[in-house]
Amino acid sequence: GILNFCANNYLGLSSHPEVIRAAVEALEKFGAGLSSVRFICGTQSIHKDLEEKIARFHQREDAILYASCFDANAGIFEALLTPEDAVLSDELNHASIIDGIRLCKANKYRYKHMDMQDLEAKLQDAQKHRLRLVATDGAFSMDGDIAPLKEICQLAEKYNALVFIDECHATGFLGPNGRGTDELLGVMDKVTIINSTLGKALGGAAGGYTTGPKPLIDLLRQRSRPYLFSNSLPPAVVGCASKALDLLMESNAIAQSMAAKTQRFRSKMTAAGFTISGKDHPICPVMLGDARLAAVMAEDMLNRGIYVIGFSYPVVPKGKARIRVQISAVHSDEDIDRCVEAFTEVGRKHGALP
Ligand code: PLP
Repeated sequence: GILNFCANNYLGLSSHPEVIRAAVEALEKFGAGLSSVRFICGTQSIHKDLEEKIARFHQREDAILYASCFDANAGIFEALLTPEDAVLSDELNHASIIDGIRLCKANKYRYKHMDMQDLEAKLQDAQKHRLRLVATDGAFSMDGDIAPLKEICQLAEKYNALVFIDECHATGFLGPNGRGTDELLGVMDKVTIINSTLGKALGGAAGGYTTGPKPLIDLLRQRSRPYLFSNSLPPAVVGCASKALDLLMESNAIAQSMAAKTQRFRSKMTAAGFTISGKDHPICPVMLGDARLAAVMAEDMLNRGIYVIGFSYPVVPKGKARIRVQISAVHSDEDIDRCVEAFTEVGRKHGALP
């Protein structure tokens, strides 16, 4: 009887019967696992097929699979950048991007969140380096806001930089065909590198990938440490993601199945008097400020059958505690209304609403 409003299961594919069946079939046909990394004896036809499908989905030349997007982010910067290069990173990028950048020896610049003036100033300073890479989340997971990719790509062109985006909270549902933030903002041909996850909208099992130019993917196969030194994705997991991509490429109906629900939640919550951060994204952070308030409200929401979680420092900045609600295509309009009603009751009870 409890409704889950805190999963990354944006499209409901984690419980889609065809996705589950594809996993079972892959398990039976290809076994439980490979007991090997990819380059030894850990590559089956399904791994190659999935890489090809990911590249086709994103309209890129090639793709490489990892055990997670955390690994994809851990592997890319060190493999690509040398001490002569520079990486420019949004200050609110995901922890895995920050860790990946820590592992590389490039010169590091951190620009203010989505601040194009600051990025430009840093790009000017970084002209002295051999190569520049701008790294940003496509959609930011704590705030539900979307990187200004058009402007970032314009600056990248002006200052001869490459653009990298992490699309974990965009792949499958942003843009007319669910290709992601680059499709939404009309810059699919301008973004060089995409990292994303198979563990959220694309079936929710596990796994991550990099997709981009073929020479880059070839380089990662030779040099990327999480790829070289970690076990292959198990066949059932490959089966889930592969089927999720098939479903998304057959029609854009699934990619579009959540937008109206997001809109319903955001507008009803705003009308009720709450402040929802971000815009048009299924991550809907209900901004509360106080950490204790966020915790007790989340607890009380559960008592009313709504599963949400309070986020406070250090996951978000001090004084910016919130309850992060995530909308899914499998929520019915009634589910969303039930969630809004519960928030309104709980908000009044705890003084978040007048
Ligand atoms: N990047 C972002 C923006 C994320 O939100 C996450 C997951 O929380 C990751 C990377 C890591 O993805 P995975 O769970 O596939 O390791």
